[in-house]
Amino acid sequence: MPTIPRIDALHAEMTAWRRDLHAHPETAFEEARTSDFVAEKLSSFGVEVHRGLAKTGVVGTLRAGSGRRAIGLRADMDALHVHEANTFAHRSRNEGRMHACGHDGHTTMLLGAARHLAETRAFDGTVHFIFQPAEENEGGGRVMVEDGLFEKFPVEAVFGMHNWPGIPAGQLAVMPGIMMASFDIFEIKITGRGAHAGMPHHGVDAIVAGSALVQALQAIVSRGVSPVDAAVVSVTQFHAGDTWNVLPDEVTLRGSARALKPEVQALVEGAMRRVCDGVAAAHGCQVTMRYERRYPPIINTPKEVAMAIAAMTQVIGADKVLTDIQPTMGAEDFAFMLRERPGAYVWLGNGVAGESRMLHNPGYDFNDEILPIGASYWVTLVEQTLSKGALDSP
Ligand SMILES: [Zn+2]
Ligand SMILES: [Zn+2]
Repeated sequence: MPTIPRIDALHAEMTAWRRDLHAHPETAFEEARTSDFVAEKLSSFGVEVHRGLAKTGVVGTLRAGSGRRAIGLRADMDALHVHEANTFAHRSRNEGRMHACGHDGHTTMLLGAARHLAETRAFDGTVHFIFQPAEENEGGGRVMVEDGLFEKFPVEAVFGMHNWPGIPAGQLAVMPGIMMASFDIFEIKITGRGAHAGMPHHGVDAIVAGSALVQALQAIVSRGVSPVDAAVVSVTQFHAGDTWNVLPDEVTLRGSARALKPEVQALVEGAMRRVCDGVAAAHGCQVTMRYERRYPPIINTPKEVAMAIAAMTQVIGADKVLTDIQPTMGAEDFAFMLRERPGAYVWLGNGVAGESRMLHNPGYDFNDEILPIGASYWVTLVEQTLSKGALDSP
């Protein structure tokens, strides 16, 4: 069986929702229109609407039967600060903001599933539809958890889904254990002493020290982390100087560090502090680092992965379910929800190269052909997990 026929019938309407959301992208904690859109749709389906968690977050609650079990399904709603390069009719109307990560599609698929489940109620228990703001950089998932998401809406498990360019359209992928990396950011300030470019010996050259630091940071992963563990340290900004003939006082470096295991994350941070101190001593300058742990890794639990695979298999067939996949060094704030509850985060293929641009690319677009597949996965997961006749205790 491919998708659920009633959801196929919603395909045109879901496509219209998705393109409307795509045309009106909003970034972290400013998803006011998107939040209104979601709340209005949910209440028109007969789903109970709760607003205000993490500012623009929306939780829809749907009950059926008398079962006391509950699960959470989560979609993210935010866009990115990207100038859209696409020229199609549904391109961004908010210049400088773009749904370049497909969260417009995620929101739409969860709305489609909510509509179908509200109409059919072929399950026994409670589903909380979690529409989360600010996935990109700002950790809206963490804020929802801190605002009491799971105290207000208790669930035994929580599930997430992200579209994935590079996986054939409509295939689904999941695996137990670590699937995505931790995400940290750092800012390093190197303070030397400015000097005439022709007389550098009168100063302390912060640019030379900064260059040495960038090079030395590369040895942390290659020499300090076990070759069978994964980590990455990327310096993404190097700011210094204003003119041709002056050595500046100060250099600022910024970047991101990632790892698949918490112990490797800690090792990388410690090694970075040592390298900063060493470069400061070697060059006679001051080096200070601000290191901020942003997102923990995505860690799927085996039982919930098995539930996800069962639902995927029913929707697309076992031959299209991918379980032999590699983790990625990308990160996701759904990890904060997975730290609180067991669950599974899955990838839905958005198309291979030539069909889909990569995430965060200005030419990216969510593939509307996969909307019914994602929505059917959500519905099937609910109907199987909270099946009528299942025992009331998990
Ligand atoms: Zn993204
Ligand atoms: Zn994303």
